[in-house]
Amino acid sequence: MSEFSSRWLQQTAELLASWPGVGKRTALRYVLYLMRQPPEYLQSLARRIEGLGTEVRSCRRCGNFADEDLCAICAQPRRSQQGLLCVVEDLPDLLALENTGSFSGVYHILGGCINPSEGVGPEQLRIRELEERIPLENPSEIILALSATPEADTTAFYLHRRLASFGIPITTLARGIGFGSELQYTDDLTLARSMLQRVPYQPSGLS
Ligand SMILES: [Zn+2]
Repeated sequence: MSEFSSRWLQQTAELLASWPGVGKRTALRYVLYLMRQPPEYLQSLARRIEGLGTEVRSCRRCGNFADEDLCAICAQPRRSQQGLLCVVEDLPDLLALENTGSFSGVYHILGGCINPSEGVGPEQLRIRELEERIPLENPSEIILALSATPEADTTAFYLHRRLASFGIPITTLARGIGFGSELQYTDDLTLARSMLQRVPYQPSGLS
């Protein structure tokens, strides 16, 4: 990018072009758009972005992003009262499920899946936090809402083994989700149906 006569413009465009899904052309359009906005808008935008780093924290219960100690979901008593604890890989999965409106319990974000080839073992995930929650909240059902990938299958198998001693029914989403597909990219209808028609977890030949 050398078409700019201003270093400010150039550096902003380069920054935006490094964002996911934003190429040089789109970055240029964004910079030109920003240049047409009043200074107050740019200040407010800068404050919002700064706040993502300084104001947003992790919910002490589920690991979701939160402005307070608890996220907006965990802070609703009627959601914990359902007795349903839904384990997801990451935030996009939680958002996808929330979007369907088919789940009224609480979540637990693992922070990924067990993936030895990428150096992710159980200790890198929020599994200990999950074990600590269970006696405190005493859920009536733990739902493993993971993707249909080999890594997710390994993770589900591991969780099932590790959580078995709590004696709480462990269920999984009905397999409307095609093999190899990630939960967050599953359409709303399939996802809602998979949640409503969940089944007891069955280890699938892994050992
Ligand atoms: Zn939370």
